[in-house]
Formats: sequence, structure tokens, C-alpha cells
Amino acid sequence: MKNMVLSFLMFVVFITNAHDVTHHLKMNSAVIAQAGEVTYLGNAGLMVSHGDQQIMFDPFFHNHYNNYQLVPDDIRVAIFSGKAPFDSIEMILISHAHGDHFDAKDVIEYLKAHPKTKLLAPTQAIDQLKGIDGFDDLQNQVRGVDLAYGDQPVELYFKGIKVEVVRIPHAGWPGRADVSNLVYRVTLNEVVTVMHMGDADPDDVHFKPLSNYWQKLVTGNAFPPYWFLTSESGKKILSDRINATHHTGVHVPVKVPDELKSSGENYFSQPGKVLQLKQMSPDEGLLKKPSVKSIINDSDK
Ligand SMILES: [Zn+2]
Ligand SMILES: [Zn+2]
Repeated sequence: MKNMVLSFLMFVVFITNAHDVTHHLKMNSAVIAQAGEVTYLGNAGLMVSHGDQQIMFDPFFHNHYNNYQLVPDDIRVAIFSGKAPFDSIEMILISHAHGDHFDAKDVIEYLKAHPKTKLLAPTQAIDQLKGIDGFDDLQNQVRGVDLAYGDQPVELYFKGIKVEVVRIPHAGWPGRADVSNLVYRVTLNEVVTVMHMGDADPDDVHFKPLSNYWQKLVTGNAFPPYWFLTSESGKKILSDRINATHHTGVHVPVKVPDELKSSGENYFSQPGKVLQLKQMSPDEGLLKKPSVKSIINDSDK
């Protein structure tokens, strides 16, 4: 792994803080990816890349509930056709099975066309996939996560990707307690760590019991839903609890709420926007050896 990281460091390229996907598409993906970037797709959809690793969170959905951003057609087409910068997606992670985060048919269609891509999703989403033609042929690509509220986080490893998952209730708690919303902390190439929070509820009562879990690893970039940025409890979770050095809000309504605009917080509202990821040094704890190993697909070892 060290050699691989070193070889990526040999590509030295300056990348501006933000540029659009059109520009991105023209660049050599191996070169641009090494810096670590996140591309905003729409709503809570993100593509995160570092070096040879590309993952997507919540990329396929069709419901905007008259409020949220859909993934624009040009980005959607680029994703499905595997066009750069979406040309090497290792894994798709689904936060929860709501229509503004997940579409079962799209997921099946994508996995069929991209047999090297794995899917990690709550079992509630997997159950929706089961009803669709072609699911039976995708067994090696699909992995369900079945966590109950209060369960300890689980760790999964796939090639150079470390995924930690914990169930944090959906916003509106204690309503919607039945919805399995997963918060993912993902480390790519042992260098960059990001956190995707789905539609998490911004109440510390869910986060506090896991304080040791948050503290054991620094997250360079967290992507909370915007309601964390406009509530005192949410802001406190971001600043004091989850051990993230930077955060950028997602799930922002098309008409950006005034209180978010005036908050001074960073957020995504323009699909195609690209930001550089924060990179951590080894002494920040990213190179800790895993305690539990479970491989998504043994044949990929
Ligand atoms: Zn939801
Ligand atoms: Zn949502």
C-alpha cells in the first residue's frame, strides 16, 4: 500500500478548490483522483475519490418531494456509462431506502452494467432489490447491513476501502424509528476519511453513547444533512462529537433556506461542484490496524 500511495504522490497536480464536472470530465482521472475529491451529485448524492478508489453515496433516486435537488441528466448519463470521473466506481453506499436517496431499479441496472462495483446498503433497501429481475445474478456484488438502533458499529474492508457503519435514526425521531438510516465513515487508501450521514436525526442522544467510536478516528470531511447546520444540537454534534475537522452540508433544498444562507456554513447546492478532500497525517490515527476484519466478497481478496 505504501508504494502505491508513493506512486500516486508522484503525480503532482494543482487542482483548484472547485470546478465543474464538465472540466473534470476532460482531465485524466488517475491524475485528478490522487488529491482526494468529492463531487456533489444532487441531494445527498456524492462521489468521493482518492487515488485508485472511487465510491458513491446515494447516487440513484427520482423523488425530489418538490423541494430537493435531483441528479442532473448529464451527470446521471456519465455515471451510468462509466465515463470519467465515474469510470472506476468500486462501491456504492446507500444510507436508507427513501425515494430521495435510493431507487431499486436504477441500482440493479447500474450493478448489471458494472459487475466490478459493490453495493452496501441497509437490508431494507436490499429487500426492495429482491423484487426486481436480475437481482439473483448480483449476489457477489451486494451486501446488506442489518443494524438495530443502539447496536455497535460494524467494520467492513474491501480492497483499499475501510467502511465503518452505524445506525443513527432518521430525522424526526422518535417518528420514523423503523427506518434504518446508516451513517458511514469511510477511509480510502488509509489516507482520507469521510462521513456520510444520510438523513440522521440531529440529537446527541444518538451520538453520545458512541463517543469512543467517534474519537478513535479523525474524519477529514463530514457531509451532514443541512438541518445539522441550522440547529444548535446539530452544530454541537458536528463540532464536539463526531471528530470531524471539516463539514459540508448536503440535502439542501433547491430554494436554499435563508437561515442556511446566513449561517456562514459550507454546503453543496450546485450539482457537479467538486471540492478537494482533507488529507490526514498518519499520526492522526488513520493507519491504525483493523480490529475486526470482514471482507465483502472473498473472491476479491
Ligand atoms: Zn429519508
Ligand atoms: Zn432525505
